[in-house]
Amino acid sequence: MCGIVGYIGKQKAAPIILDGLERLEYRGYDSAGMAVYDGEKLNQAKATGRLNVLYNLTRGGQTLPGTMGIGHTRWATHGVPSTVNAHPHTNTAGTIAVVQNGIIENYQALRRRLESRGYKFASDTDTEVLPHLLDNYYNGDPRKAIIQMLQQITGSFALGIVFADHPDHLYSVRKECPLIVGKGEGEYFIASDVTAILKYTRDVVYLGNLEIADLTADGAFYFNIDEEEISKEVSTVDWDVSAAEKGGYEHFMLKEMMEQRQAVRDTLNPRLKKGEIVIEELKMTDEEIANVRKLFIVACGSAYHTGVTAKYIFENLARLPVEVDLASEFRYRDPLLEKDDLVVVISQSGETADTLAALRMASEAGCKILAIVNVVGSTIAREADFVMYTWAGPEIAVATTKAYSAQLIALYLLAMKFAGARGYLHGRKLRSMIDALTKLPDQIEMLLNNREELQRIASRFIAARAVFFIGRGIDYAICLEGSLKLKEISYIHSEAYAAGELKHGTISLIEDGTLVAAVSTQASLSEKLLSNIKEVKARGAVILSITTMGNTDIENESDYTVMLPETHPLFTDSLAIIPLQMLAYYIAVGRGCDVDKPRNLAKSVTVE
Ligand code: GLU
Repeated sequence: MCGIVGYIGKQKAAPIILDGLERLEYRGYDSAGMAVYDGEKLNQAKATGRLNVLYNLTRGGQTLPGTMGIGHTRWATHGVPSTVNAHPHTNTAGTIAVVQNGIIENYQALRRRLESRGYKFASDTDTEVLPHLLDNYYNGDPRKAIIQMLQQITGSFALGIVFADHPDHLYSVRKECPLIVGKGEGEYFIASDVTAILKYTRDVVYLGNLEIADLTADGAFYFNIDEEEISKEVSTVDWDVSAAEKGGYEHFMLKEMMEQRQAVRDTLNPRLKKGEIVIEELKMTDEEIANVRKLFIVACGSAYHTGVTAKYIFENLARLPVEVDLASEFRYRDPLLEKDDLVVVISQSGETADTLAALRMASEAGCKILAIVNVVGSTIAREADFVMYTWAGPEIAVATTKAYSAQLIALYLLAMKFAGARGYLHGRKLRSMIDALTKLPDQIEMLLNNREELQRIASRFIAARAVFFIGRGIDYAICLEGSLKLKEISYIHSEAYAAGELKHGTISLIEDGTLVAAVSTQASLSEKLLSNIKEVKARGAVILSITTMGNTDIENESDYTVMLPETHPLFTDSLAIIPLQMLAYYIAVGRGCDVDKPRNLAKSVTVE
């Protein structure tokens, strides 16, 4: 998820690696490290914190001489940020070094296997299985060892690999995570983002999934997992450095929206095993889960909205009572907590002050705490009894998108786990829900690819004074988030209303031309929502509806309609949020707002 830079050529490798890593700094990270071959062996340096710590430790790379090496900035997913967990990771002899971005999903099974063969592990990372696996397969031919390793690992990853006894070669491979090869004069680079090497070359090769690069100073060889050589085209990059930092996107928010397929997949896949939901982090037996009396979900902002969605799902699916609270309210309202209640706290940063205070309060009351957080090793993650990480990767834009989507997935999995343990979810019903879950990433991608339509719709409402979002049930929950997205980045006043509530006052605000976004994904509530749409239309509202494929009744009453692909009715929020994010984004862009850093807001709210 963070950065990889590698170099092979005639120049000093370490300063080039450090320089490249610095250009990837915008991605956010927690530790960094390098391994450079000095003519005899691989030497390493690692440091936690910002890159200048590694820079100072190695005196700008001077203490690591050599013309071939790999470097990494880590955004911890497995194991806390520490020097031991920082990359590169090596085999015990220190002759094979690996840097990795992403997640090796089956690392636990591989680690157990390697340990039973006598391999000793030094870190808590998923990455460390890689150098040991390579060591296990290596008998003088790095290519063969890499292919054998690739046949064993699952997940999404980008790798830089070096072998001390093949110091003229730098190897790289990727699957789902970004990685490019840069071609210079008598030198080659690898990097997870072109921005890291633009200073040196504009000639790049885009590695495809499971294509392996074998780079020497004088030439590059590419081959596939069957060891067949493949030819790769060299492209010339013509964008400037600042554009490249956002991967070519105008804003981090857009980039992060576009990363939602990956974020959702990474949060989902490690927890689906052989047709079962496996949440290893939740160290509770089915019996303990079944004995939970009540669930409290406590969070702030968008994370709170995922809690509102989750309440509907838990109560429907697991028949368990759920209270959803804003953390800033929960901590002062003297809630009736009992020892067999479970408190779920949700926070992207894991540092949200109110959520942390709520956690401590509930913990003192004797409740067990489950945290859903994105940042590994954050305070909330450390203080909770159980942590379920959302593998969304670093989120830079203040307005959350991919972390929100990943939180929804974590909550679906949790609700299904609870429903199973309480005897409400098994057999065909479970299978069809898992099937729907696994389709979500591609369906999200499909909606994201439809962004031009939202751009067109948004362009009509750039001058809007107020926007209303209406829906019922979980559609109401997504309206809360859609409305927040719009107001936080475009500064247009907006309100989310449970559709039936509108006529109890707020309908007086609807005037000619007011945009009303109506979300209708629940067949059983569709007719009710249709009446609410008619009510606001009669008062001059313009309707943008978000509905499920084939709902022509809603479509016929709407000025604009976005159709969502079919999914399980409890999962529709994951799809409905995509057009709403896009609407907010394109309206904000059209109004010339600072989308990534909206006024008065901060990414991580560490004050009360
Ligand atoms: N999963 C790896 C780790 O936790 C790599 C994370 C990254 O992409 O930085 O060390």
